[in-house]
Amino acid sequence: MSFIEQWLHDAVPALVGGQWRKGQQTFAVDNPATGETIAHVADLSADDTRDAVAAAYEAGAAWRATPVKQRSALLRRWFELINEHADDLARLMTLEQGKPLAEAKGEVTYGASFIEFFAEEAKRMAGETLPSHGADKRLLVLREPVGVVAAITPWNFPLAMITRKCAPALAAGCTVVIKPAEATPLTALAAAYLALEAGLPAGTINVVTASKPAAVGEVLTTDPRVRKVSFTGSTPVGKHLLAQCASTVKKTAMELGGNAPFIVFDDADVDAAVNGAIASKFRNAGQTCVCTNRFLVQDGIYDAFVAKLTERVNALNVGDGLADGSIIGPLINQAAVDKVQRHVDDAVSKGARLLCGGQPHAAGDRFFTPTVLADVTTEMAVADEETFGPVAPVFRFQRDEEAIAMANDTPFGLAAYFYATDYRRIWRTMEALEYGMVGVNEGLISTELAPFGGVKESGLGREGSHHGLDEFTELKYVCVGGL
Ligand code: NAD
Repeated sequence: MSFIEQWLHDAVPALVGGQWRKGQQTFAVDNPATGETIAHVADLSADDTRDAVAAAYEAGAAWRATPVKQRSALLRRWFELINEHADDLARLMTLEQGKPLAEAKGEVTYGASFIEFFAEEAKRMAGETLPSHGADKRLLVLREPVGVVAAITPWNFPLAMITRKCAPALAAGCTVVIKPAEATPLTALAAAYLALEAGLPAGTINVVTASKPAAVGEVLTTDPRVRKVSFTGSTPVGKHLLAQCASTVKKTAMELGGNAPFIVFDDADVDAAVNGAIASKFRNAGQTCVCTNRFLVQDGIYDAFVAKLTERVNALNVGDGLADGSIIGPLINQAAVDKVQRHVDDAVSKGARLLCGGQPHAAGDRFFTPTVLADVTTEMAVADEETFGPVAPVFRFQRDEEAIAMANDTPFGLAAYFYATDYRRIWRTMEALEYGMVGVNEGLISTELAPFGGVKESGLGREGSHHGLDEFTELKYVCVGGL
């Protein structure tokens, strides 16, 4: 994509009201595999952010009045352009985020799927009429767009976390201001560039890039013209933004952190469980909010599961995401590597058995060797904290109730997984898990067709499916009297 090649040499502008804005300063974006600077990006201020909100607000009236088939066609064109540029977008994503190229391509397809889905779903955004409480009255319920939406997104899925919010928002007739993570602004800008190419009107989609998110965040969470803040990121930042949103009583969606359990019962198909474990734990080098954080394995199958898992983990190829055959790329920054090392050292010092890995990898400073820890106990940090790295800690349990209690013993409630074959056990476990999403004999569950989101401190709201569209609408009740 020629504009991307050009960007990687020049200062990359942000997008405000259909104009590319350079801002007063820039910040550097690194390739996590090499540590090299790949681009300098506009570092926008609070004033720039207010301009973006104003542009989104002004574009809102025309956009919500645009006939739905026309809005749908524009979104459909955006979807097509993203797919046409899938190879370039994937390469850009690998350069700034580090994930292996095949995974980056998978994310482009996944990210685009939200646009395809919501381009269609927009046509089904229906209101209703209700039975009336008086012979001379009629009751109508209109479904209307919320208004300006702020989308604040993390670095681990630089495209999909944006399309998962923007596609339903735009489909519903809202306009958006995106604040991408400072580590991965380029994919966000490339996606917005393609949205303009697709014909989305100026101001409907704005991208505010910034090295210091607090100033931008304050505008997005306190400006009364912003009516919804949709955030994906860590629980502490989510709580902070929720508090800031209270002053103007905004609608919010919070997709926050997790501490996913992966339970393997004695009657599980061990090979299927190991396949699911690899997919769930090691995708994106363990940096996904739904990735398994804790393996809870029943005594009778423990040794077989651990042996097969270790064999598979030992074979995972670590390297630069652009290199052929890389399965595990770098972690996003040095702090992430340090956290993973701290979790491993803490577990080993408290009696865990290190079966493989356990230290940084020879591929470079930000690469961590895929690790399996056995005999892990609840006193260790891995039990409570999101590791966000390629470490599989395996706990042991005896009774089903014990596993359910361990799985639920966390303030988080995003995704949980379990492997079993007895249908009674499957029903009991599925119902007992206090989580927003459950994979039963399945380690990969994300799709645009289903509602994604958590309970407890993992968040509020759902993304994907028809529920994802509802998040960007308000109901207006109209009582027509005097008939
Ligand atoms: P983070 O909370 O540090 O940052 C997320 C976004 O918030 C970034 O764009 C960042 O710049 C911005 N931000 C930070 N402080 C801000 C402030 N004061 N005002 C406004 N914006 C601010 O999270 P991260 O490290 O980028 O992402 C990793 C976390 O995200 C993990 O906890 C992971 O579980 C979670 N996550 C959750 C989901 C989900 O759907 N539930 C998906 C992906 C990631």
